[in-house]
Amino acid sequence: MDALRPARARIDLTALRHNFGVLKSAADGAKVFPAIKADAYGHGMLACAQALRDLADGFVVATLGEAEVLRKAGITQRIMVLQGFASLAEARLAARLMLEPVIHQAWQVDILERGHTGLPLRVWLKIDTGMHRMGIEPEQVGVLHKRLMASGRLRGAPGFMTHFACADEPDPALTRRQIEVFRRATEGLEGERSLSNSAGLLGGFDAGGDIVRPGIALYGGNPFVYGQAAEHGLRPVMTLTTRLLAVREHPAGAAIGYGATWTCPEAMPVGIAAIGYGDGYPRRIPPGTPVLVNGQRAAIIGRVSMDLITLDLRGVEARPGDEVELWGRALPVDEVAQAIGTISYDLTCAAGAHAAREYLGEAPAVTVPAAG
Ligand SMILES: *Cc1c(COP(=O)(O)O)cnc(C)c1O
Repeated sequence: MDALRPARARIDLTALRHNFGVLKSAADGAKVFPAIKADAYGHGMLACAQALRDLADGFVVATLGEAEVLRKAGITQRIMVLQGFASLAEARLAARLMLEPVIHQAWQVDILERGHTGLPLRVWLKIDTGMHRMGIEPEQVGVLHKRLMASGRLRGAPGFMTHFACADEPDPALTRRQIEVFRRATEGLEGERSLSNSAGLLGGFDAGGDIVRPGIALYGGNPFVYGQAAEHGLRPVMTLTTRLLAVREHPAGAAIGYGATWTCPEAMPVGIAAIGYGDGYPRRIPPGTPVLVNGQRAAIIGRVSMDLITLDLRGVEARPGDEVELWGRALPVDEVAQAIGTISYDLTCAAGAHAAREYLGEAPAVTVPAAG
């Protein structure tokens, strides 16, 4: 593939399918709907959906636009749409494309009662069990369920879902409370249940439900603020690499890069590699953050620029043209994320959006019908 820029996000579809298998076993018989919103966390929504289409029971996206792209590409699985619809026209589109929008406020039920969706619609009721972001109050569930069932607009009973705020943290108290609130709010009501994200699924909460919605673990990221992804048998899916452009010797006292923020403590080799915040490698990455040069650990020095980073190559054998890995197969993305106090989602979304993506590994043969 031709390259405007040498930074590459290599996406290993074999690893993606392996991780799906890990999550499917953990799901203990529940259906698995991979979360592929935000362009599959930077890994490519369509490529990931196609790589998983013979395994996944459905998919989760944030918007109707994302779901429409999947349908146009011939994805026939169930698709849960987290932001749901905001108008009758959108509800009709969801019905026509057989999507499953999430209802998170009562006014969305009003829309269904007031107008026809054309085809019957399968919906989810999102219950705010403690995250206080989106969702209806647990006390509203009975009334809205009844109104939806009476609306005549639905295909089957509405499903019930919720989202965990703290399942990634060591203290299980809030997650347990959310599970209990959900159980009580939905008790005796007809409809599917869906509770767990990656951390909810792998955290041993026994949340149950008919459908689980893992995202980050599928891409090989650690869903927890502690431990490592590899402990769960997960493999990294994205490997971000570039090339070393130059190796230069600088004397003690030489200041490196914008702002002259880093000074060579001794005469030393400094590497310059072709990646920067223009490729989604964040500017806020601090000195000391690891990278791999030919598989050897080196550290970032100075500031990350738009197209370049500078590396401490003391003790590292390196020549221009050598491969530099920023994260991935040999350097967990979580380690880099921790260096800037963020989570791997943040890094893969940014790099996936900016760096050229390449796909490796096995995926099932697919036929993509013409868009229309
Ligand atoms: C993004 C998202 C998920 C997936 O979460 P991960 O932490 O990536 O596993 C599941 N459910 C909802 C509602 C989400 O927004």
